[in-house]
Amino acid sequence: MFSKSLIEKFQTIETPFYYYDLDILKRTIAALKAESEKHNFHIHYALKANTNQQILKIICDAGFGADCVSGNEVKAALKNNFNPSSIVFAGVGKTDKEIIESLTADIFCFNCESMEEIKVINELAASLHKKARIALRINPNVNANTHHYITTGLEENKFGINFWELEAVMEVIKNSPSIQLIGLHFHIGSQICDLEPFRLLCTRINEIQQWFSSRNITIIHLNVGGGLGVDYHEPDKNAIPDFKSYFNVFHKFLEIKKQQQVHFELGRSIVAQCGALISKVLFVKKGKKTDFIILDAGMTELIRPALYQSYHKIENLTAAFRSQQDYSKQMEHSEHQVGDPVLNIAETKYDVVGPICESSDCFAKALLLPTTVRGHLFALRTTGAYGQVMSLEYNLREKAKTVYS
Ligand SMILES: *Cc1c(COP(=O)(O)O)cnc(C)c1O
Repeated sequence: MFSKSLIEKFQTIETPFYYYDLDILKRTIAALKAESEKHNFHIHYALKANTNQQILKIICDAGFGADCVSGNEVKAALKNNFNPSSIVFAGVGKTDKEIIESLTADIFCFNCESMEEIKVINELAASLHKKARIALRINPNVNANTHHYITTGLEENKFGINFWELEAVMEVIKNSPSIQLIGLHFHIGSQICDLEPFRLLCTRINEIQQWFSSRNITIIHLNVGGGLGVDYHEPDKNAIPDFKSYFNVFHKFLEIKKQQQVHFELGRSIVAQCGALISKVLFVKKGKKTDFIILDAGMTELIRPALYQSYHKIENLTAAFRSQQDYSKQMEHSEHQVGDPVLNIAETKYDVVGPICESSDCFAKALLLPTTVRGHLFALRTTGAYGQVMSLEYNLREKAKTVYS
């Protein structure tokens, strides 16, 4: 991801900042488009992963729809040219204002998560003389086998309507003239790398579909959510997720009826690998067991490690750059080509931490890194999704800037 000239450029920019490699983004999108089109699957980008304007523009230009979880995300999607007819709106707690604005904008579909929400949307739609298209977000009770904070498809989670509530929910819909039921929606969690939970989801959807068809209720849209994981450990080797295998699971195991359209809501798998948080070493401090590398970026710029113990590959770019230079010198009179930079030659064990006044402001413990000194540039990889969007102003921190390739 980082050429010598790019690292030299980074040295002239104030840190910390988010760097986005738009070429990686475009290649990811091209792969996603090619694989989804093979099956005629519809893709909605989950805006909450990253709402950077340039990124939204590239995704919108690719022809994808938008998956929003707040009224402001709906507005951001509209402002960035996503077609209202491709916008879906999910979330357990939609406010009246958010519902009214989305009805007025004539978005494609509300993914409804409770009986009360359906009643409220019906009332608000009636007052606007509109008919609201809805999908029922059903909790499939499928374990995504991911971190418990990003598991959403279990009965103990707050998301969706439980299967045993369906009879009552259909009664409400029957008595809601301003509601049109067009689809079913599911989303079992995030950062799912093993495809088995998706196969189980398909099986579960097939069962749920039977419930509807046995009652002669037609479902046109099946929205299976997002959640495909990315490789946080090998971001260079596996920059582009295996969309092919992912879609094949749904092609193979989901019973898709005639006229039915299948929708996906992908966030992380589209944008995670194109982003890196670039930070400078402020100080290196002696510790009891390991020394501390204190970066100028912390949990305010990237909260995922503090929030869900997530792993991000950490690279000392300055050391990589130096070793690349040494390597080039050695190779000057040889026939060999200069290869990839020799990254992360393990030399010393460090805890890599941020400057925030919280002990959870720690990116890695006892990590082997090249010997590091004040001023070295660091990259925290695979931070394009749920990175910059989750940043905080805690400690009155300034918002990190954005740099694009
Ligand atoms: C967050 C979210 C997504 C996207 O999840 P990823 O793991 O980023 O693909 C999709 N659908 C809904 C309803 C979500 O809340």
